Order: sequence, then structure tokens, then C-alpha cells
Amino acid sequence: MNSMSVWEATANERPKRPVLQGEKTCDVVIVGGGFTGLSVAYHLQQRNVETVVLEKGVVGGGASGRNGGEVLIGYVESMRSLAKKYGRAAARQMFQMSLDSIDLIERIIQEEDIACDFQRNGNLLAAYKPSHLDDLKREQQFLYEAYQFESKIVEKEDLHTELDSSFYHGAFVDERSAIFHPLNYCLGLAKAVERRGGTIYEHSQATKIERVTPDKVIVETHNGRIVAQQVGLFVNAYTTGLHDVIDRAIVPVESIVLATEPLPPALCQQLIKHNRAASDTKRLLYYFRRTADNRMVFGGSGRTASKRDARTLFDKLREGMVTVFPTLKDAKVEYKWSGKVGFTFERIPYIGQLEDGTHFAFGYAGHGAAMSTLLGKLVALNMLNEGDRHNPLDRSRLKPIPFHSQHARAVGIMKYYFKFLDYIS
Ligand SMILES: Cc1cc2nc3c(=O)[nH]c(=O)nc-3n(C[C@H](O)[C@H](O)[C@H](O)COP(=O)(O)OP(=O)(O)OC[C@H]3O[C@@H](n4cnc5c(N)ncnc54)[C@H](O)[C@@H]3O)c2cc1C
Repeated sequence: MNSMSVWEATANERPKRPVLQGEKTCDVVIVGGGFTGLSVAYHLQQRNVETVVLEKGVVGGGASGRNGGEVLIGYVESMRSLAKKYGRAAARQMFQMSLDSIDLIERIIQEEDIACDFQRNGNLLAAYKPSHLDDLKREQQFLYEAYQFESKIVEKEDLHTELDSSFYHGAFVDERSAIFHPLNYCLGLAKAVERRGGTIYEHSQATKIERVTPDKVIVETHNGRIVAQQVGLFVNAYTTGLHDVIDRAIVPVESIVLATEPLPPALCQQLIKHNRAASDTKRLLYYFRRTADNRMVFGGSGRTASKRDARTLFDKLREGMVTVFPTLKDAKVEYKWSGKVGFTFERIPYIGQLEDGTHFAFGYAGHGAAMSTLLGKLVALNMLNEGDRHNPLDRSRLKPIPFHSQHARAVGIMKYYFKFLDYIS
């Protein structure tokens, strides 16, 4: 199931881009026209490095044009948990990167004048169980003590000041996260790449990468080829078997989203009062936000194997939305779509360069709307030999995820397990 998203239906005008035909040369060839690949191209073009982006479908056709548009601080795991795993210093650097990523996006939007409804009103993480609020309180305290980062806890009895919902048991709120129209940001970034001299080919799937010498690489498509000095692969969860090592280091997990019809503005404003990004602490989480045209966008997890499956999943998602926001019981759902979220084994994004010279960045685990633009910039710096290879997300040796070929089954089983954990925890 892959129908039209509300973002596609409300997108800014996009130019028709050419299909690669014949042989072309450039400095760097970039595979993947999402946030990551376009950010690499953008930052290289700023330094007058000639780039070509090859996109299998259209710009933003992968996750970048179909996500929830929640531009969030942090990672899928809490910073407390990351500090335990990687040490305080590494976790501090990782947290700072997540803040920097949103600043970078804000700057690009301003400098390139990208109309994408960017609103920096923060993020609300709602507690699904009373015990989850205790966890959120510990996280809030940790963020303050370790990083002097200010955030707040909203107790259950005050939650009405944030949400028109009594479903949750309180919430954690930060003021630094944002929301945007993800496809319009992506299209704006693509335009900025082209304005700076980069070339983007659409409907031009890379089918083979051949490293000829350390500074010559050939990337083939069905109708042509690019001869370049460097190559980067930025396909995240939308892998096509192009690079075995990268493919086996990422697991795609499907997520489904719906958008209501435009609601009466006063009703819509009540739902999420400060127009923040929002999600909850369930392992099979819900995420939700308002749009600029007063719709509710509501997402969750779900693999849509068949049409019947899809109907049931979207019915359940709608039920979930009405459980959280009972005032939406009569709201018509106008758009339903799905997409693939990329996870690494460690559930943090990876950036680096493999021994064969291929650069990469992927595996944002549902937090890529923010982080992908920054990692794209850092890849560009790596390509210019100006990068800091000691960054805690650098994994130049990629280990395959155990039992990767079984991942679809494993993800299905994990979802039942997570449902069970949500029930008992
Ligand atoms: C439904 C959904 C909701 C999400 N919500 C959020 C959210 O609210 N907040 C958040 O932070 N993150 C969210 N995410 C995750 C976020 O969208 C991604 O982390 C981010 O878009 C990744 O960007 P990317 O450029 O790395 O990958 P993508 O945007 O997926 O781009 C990869 C591109 O590579 C192309 N490609 C693949 N193979 C080839 C090939 N062989 N040749 C040429 N091109 C190729 C694909 O067509 C695709 O366009 C969500 C994801 C989904 C699917």
C-alpha cells in the first residue's frame, strides 16, 4: 500500500527532471534523492564540487517526502540509555548533533527561502503509562544535569494545556524541536542544489557501482552512466541490492500514516494547543501533529502486506486517533499512505566510508527528518577530507545485521512482542 500522501497532494510545484541518458562526468555521484543525498549535494555544491544525484523515482519519493514531518531532538532511545551504552562524552556529542541538525535545517530554510511551513514550537512526548512518566521525569532531569538542557514535564492533570486528550498520563516537552512539510523541504533542497549548479536525474536507478581506481568510479543506470571521483549511497530503507554491505546493515520497518480532512481551525488548534510535534511512549508508538491547513496527521506502525491488511491497519490507526482525540470521531480521513523507516542494529544512525571508497549515512530510526540534513553535511565534509572521523556515529566497518534475510519475519514477530510489552509494562 503506497497511496498519495497529504504532502504530495499539497506540494509546491516541482519541475520535471531529466532521465540520465548516455555518459556524463562529475566530481561526486550521489545515489538517492532524499534529505540525506540532497544535503550531501547541497553542501558539496556550496564548495563548488560538481555533483550528480541519481534518483530511482522522483525527489522525495522515499521516506523524505512521506514522513510525519516531525523534526526532533535526540534519538529513538533516551539520552540516558545512550550515555550508558556509549559513555557520557559520546552521548553528549550525539545530543549536540541532534540540536545542531535542527539549527542547520532552520538556516537552510531561511537562506534558500524554502516554503515548507517550518514551525519551531517544540515536541511533546506523551506518557502511555504512569510508569512511563516517571521515566520521562528521569530523562528530563538527566538532560538538565548532564547538558544543561531545559525541558519540562507536564503532569496528567495539566495535560489539557497541551492536548485535547485525557488518554495519556502526562508528557515531556522540549521547545527546540520543530515540524515542517517534509516534501516541500525536500523539493526546496533539490532546487537549491540545482541553483548551485548540481544536476538531479529522476527515474534513473543506479544499477551498478564499479570502482575503477581510488579516484575513479562508474555508476551505471539502465540508460546511462556517470563517471566520477567519489560516490555516496544514500538510499536508507529503500535499498535495491546495489551494495551488499550497506543493504545488510539496514532493516526497513513500515510505518503508516493518515491525514484528516481540513478541520475547523478552532477545533484543530485545540487538539495540539501549541502546534508542537507529538508522539507517545508506546513501543508501537503513535505520532501526530497539525498541518498548516488544519488537518490532523496521525501515524503508527504497521506492515501492509495485502489490501485487506491495509484496510484493517488503517481502520485500527483511525480508531487509535479517535481514542486519543475523541473530538475527531466524525472527522473524515482524506489521505492514507505508508513508507519505510530504516533501522540499524544499534538503532542509531551510521555515517562513514567503506574500504571500497563508498560513502554512506543511514538508519535514522524515525528521527531522520532532523538528522539526515546534518549527516549529509558531515558526509560532504568527509568527501572534502575535512570531516571529523571520530564522531560517535562513524561506523566505517559495517557489520551485517544477524539473520538479516529473515528481517521481515523478525519485524513481524517483534511487533507482537512490543504489543505485549506495551500491554504489561
Ligand atoms: C511513514 C514515515 C514517517 C516518518 N516520520 C518521521 C518523522 O516524523 N520524523 C523523523 O525524524 N523521521 C521520520 N521518518 C523517517 C525519515 O523520513 C527518514 O529518516 C528520512 O527521510 C531519511 O532520508 P534519506 O534521504 O536517508 O532516505 P529516503 O528519503 O528514503 O531517500 C532514499 C532515496 O533513494 C532512492 N533510491 C533507492 N535506491 C536507489 C537506486 N538504486 N538508485 C537511485 N535512487 C535510489 C529512493 O527512491 C529514495 O528516494 C518517517 C519515515 C516514514 C517512512
